Amino acid sequence: MIPTCTGERDVYQFIKACDLACSAVEKDDLPILMKFDNTKLFDQALNVCLYRDMSDWEGMKLILLDAFEPQRLTSSLQIALNSHCIFKEDWTELFFFIEHGGKLLCLICNKTITVMKEYNVRRHYDNEHKAKFENLTGELRQNKIKHFLTSLSSQQNIFKSQNTRNEASVRASYVVAEMLAKNNRPFTDIEFFKKCMLAVTNEVCPEKIKLFGEISLSTRTCVRRTEELGNNLFSQLKDIIPSLDCFSIAIDESTDISDTAQLLIFIRGIDKEFNIYEELADMCSIKGTTTGEDIFKNIENSFEKLGLLLKKLISITTDGGKNMSGIHKGFVGRIKTKMIDNKFEIYVPISDVLK
Ligand SMILES: [Zn+2]
Repeated sequence: MIPTCTGERDVYQFIKACDLACSAVEKDDLPILMKFDNTKLFDQALNVCLYRDMSDWEGMKLILLDAFEPQRLTSSLQIALNSHCIFKEDWTELFFFIEHGGKLLCLICNKTITVMKEYNVRRHYDNEHKAKFENLTGELRQNKIKHFLTSLSSQQNIFKSQNTRNEASVRASYVVAEMLAKNNRPFTDIEFFKKCMLAVTNEVCPEKIKLFGEISLSTRTCVRRTEELGNNLFSQLKDIIPSLDCFSIAIDESTDISDTAQLLIFIRGIDKEFNIYEELADMCSIKGTTTGEDIFKNIENSFEKLGLLLKKLISITTDGGKNMSGIHKGFVGRIKTKMIDNKFEIYVPISDVLK
C-alpha cells in the first residue's frame, strides 16, 4: 500500500513504501508501479515533481529528497555541532584553559582559541606546556590555577582603570580648550595654565602629580580640540536648520588689525514646535573691497554651506553701514532684488540696531 505524499511531512513514509514496493515487484512491472506512485503525489510534492522525469524510481527519490531533506539535515547538523562547542569545566584542571568572552583562554600564556573543541585545547597544552606542568598534580595544580586566575583578574583591573584615566584626561583637555575659547584667550595660554596647575598639584597633592602631568595640554592640542568643538557646533547647527520654519539674520562687518574685513553672521530661527535657536552661524574673512555685492556673495556662500533657504528669511539686522543698508547697491538692496527675481514673498523688515 503506497501512502499519499504532500511534502516534507509525509515524504519519508512515501519513500519507505516505494522502496519496499520497488524491491517487491518484477522488473517488467516497474513502469506500471511508477505510474501508480505518481498518482499519489499532491500539493508541494506534486509541485516539485512537475515537468521532471518521473519514470524511474531512483530519479524520483532524488528529486523528493532534494526538495524536502536539506532543511532537516542542516538544522540537525547545527545542533550536533553546537553540542560539541561547549566549554567543559574539567579543561581548566586538565589543560589550564578557561572560558573568557566566548573564547578559550590559556591561563599559562594568555593565548586564545576561538573554536571550542577539546582537540584544540589538548593540542595547545601538549605542544606548549605539557612538559613543564605535567608533574604538577593534586593540590599543587589547584594552587597554580588559583594563582593564574588572580593574576589575570588583577591585570584586567589595571587595564580598566588605565582606560577610565585616559578618558578623563582627554575630557579634561576638551573642557580647558572650551574655557579658553569662551574667554577669548589665545591658545598659547594653555601651556601657562598647565604650569600653574602642576605647581598647585605639587603643593596640594604631590602623589597625583603624574596623573595631572599626563593630561595633554599643549598649544597644538588646544588648537585641535577647539577646531573639533567648532566643527561639532557647526554640524549640530546644520542638523537643526532643515527643521526651521523661518529665520532671521544679523550681520556685522568690522576690520581686524591685519586690515581684513571680518563678516559675522548670526542666525535666529524657530521651528514648528516653537523652539528658538540663536547661533553664530558663520564668519567670513573678506579680502579687498567690501561692497554690498562682496558681502552678498559671501552670505550666499554661507547660506549654501549651511543649507539655509532664502525663501525662509524673514528679517535682516545690519550694522547700519552704507554697504549694508543701501537700497540699490547695498547688501540689503541686493538681497531684495534676488528675492524679487525668485518671486519669493518679501516681508523682510530691515533694522540697523547693531552698532
Ligand atoms: Zn598556553
